[in-house]
Amino acid sequence: MNRFLNKGTIATLQQFRMASNLLINDSKYAFLKELGLKENNAGVFHGKWAANGQTVQSFAPATNSPIANVQNGNVQDYEIAITEARKAYNDWCEVPAPRRGEIVRQIGDKLRTQLQNLGKLVSLEMGKISAEGVGEVQEYVDICDYATGLSRSLEGKIFPSERPGHALLEQWNPLGVVGVISAFNFPCAVYGWNNALALVTGNACIWKPAPSTPLTAIAVTKLVEEVLVANNVNPALCSLVCGEGDVGQALVKDKRVNLVSFTGSSEIGKIVGQQVQARFGKLLLELGGNNAIIVNEDADLNMVVPATVFAAVGTAGQRCTTTRRLIIHEKVYDQVVERLKKAYAQFESRIGCPLDSNTIIGPLHNQQAVGKYKASIAEAIASGGKVEYGGKVLERDGNFVLPTIVTGLKHDSPVVLRETFAPILYVLKFSTLDEAIAINNEVDQGLSSSLFTTNIQNVFKWMGPKGSDCGIVNVNIPTSGAEIGGAFGGEKETGGGRESGSDSWRQYMRRSTCTINYSKELPLAQGIKFE
Ligand code: NAD
Repeated sequence: MNRFLNKGTIATLQQFRMASNLLINDSKYAFLKELGLKENNAGVFHGKWAANGQTVQSFAPATNSPIANVQNGNVQDYEIAITEARKAYNDWCEVPAPRRGEIVRQIGDKLRTQLQNLGKLVSLEMGKISAEGVGEVQEYVDICDYATGLSRSLEGKIFPSERPGHALLEQWNPLGVVGVISAFNFPCAVYGWNNALALVTGNACIWKPAPSTPLTAIAVTKLVEEVLVANNVNPALCSLVCGEGDVGQALVKDKRVNLVSFTGSSEIGKIVGQQVQARFGKLLLELGGNNAIIVNEDADLNMVVPATVFAAVGTAGQRCTTTRRLIIHEKVYDQVVERLKKAYAQFESRIGCPLDSNTIIGPLHNQQAVGKYKASIAEAIASGGKVEYGGKVLERDGNFVLPTIVTGLKHDSPVVLRETFAPILYVLKFSTLDEAIAINNEVDQGLSSSLFTTNIQNVFKWMGPKGSDCGIVNVNIPTSGAEIGGAFGGEKETGGGRESGSDSWRQYMRRSTCTINYSKELPLAQGIKFE
């Protein structure tokens, strides 16, 4: 330490060093500043940007270099956010739904103007390739369009009353505040799904993003803020508290949060689920998956191979819908494994920086994920598995690993039954479709599944009561890459929640059954006489 420098100067120099190595100051990443991000960013928004928690850095998984600093929120910041969000809700719930839809439409349009920039930020901070980063923002745009249409059709039913001069109908009202806790792997779309539907159904939102993707959350919230302010809506309607599990816990245990929409691991989801249930709060759980593709003997193998590569290797195996188990009929087993190995080898030269247009496989999110990848491969080998391809960490900056194919394991080996959030594909063999379906269903999770077949009888068996037990049941397409029009989610330890399309909007509202007597008599139901 230089003895001629006083403490204040040293602190300033440290700050300078902290700032000078930030990617935000590199002109290559000019899009960060275009999104309104700075070297130091407040990670709390409740109508104002003001945080009081620890300052942390957000890192780029491709190099593990810091992108920018974020001051997290603490539990006191959360307290302000919930108070302000509830105030904003009071006005918002009385805005007619089609008007709310119009404002959500404008949020979609605002996102469109920053589609590429925001997509690049998702890519830089999460590590997925830029096509997928942009795709994630596009999902938010799409759900805004969807929610805008929905705003004119949030319908209740009218039933025939058994009493003369009575109307029996249901009315749907907003819940209040929706708390959104999101996972690192979809730092934009998961919030988007919740945000668009929560707003159009008349709720306020508080978002607690994953601790490692705060910049995406801040950039998204800034865009939403602009739209709300331009429409004279209290912007605390979409509040944000970046932080760790303590902020998540404050939200989960808070009765003022009417719905907790939690996306993350089954491990944390189990805790959160019980805590919300303990206070009789509403829950929407979107948890882990251990998804399988079944390749029947009559499958079109020209479709199987690219579909499997996309679903097992895409996002470096870090999608909740990633294919982790490939269950192949014994008659085509050898052929499929050989073709897959060749396909994996072709992609090896395209592992790299997620922002490069040639890259098809980006890094894992952090070093902990690399550690889990190594541990699972070691366990697979110790359990009798054979690494057919991959199995290695790449010696370069960042968190790069080779996508991996493992054969020879029993279908019920503990490592196969577990969700390892990495590109490891366990290949299993079967002889009858019933056996393959039983293997598909034997894991604790129940998110996504797919059958490749050209036989119509198999298709309907697979969709029926003795078929797949998952929330997503596909035929001749990968397990990943869902559209927003359908309800998204899964059964068993995936949590049972449904987000996005179909009638998922009902989870963001409460139902009142209303009986209105417009006669001058007072008949009782079931013909009861009380006189
Ligand atoms: P995670 O469970 O570690 O964290 C998820 C969120 O929970 C983060 O925001 C985290 O800060 C917060 N959290 C942690 N402890 C908490 C606590 N005690 N109380 C409240 N909040 C707490 O998950 P992750 O590693 O970020 O994401 C990967 C997991 O998410 C995988 O299992 C994946 O399958 C799952 N996922 C599921 C879906 C789906 O739709 N089913 C979508 C994306 C990811």
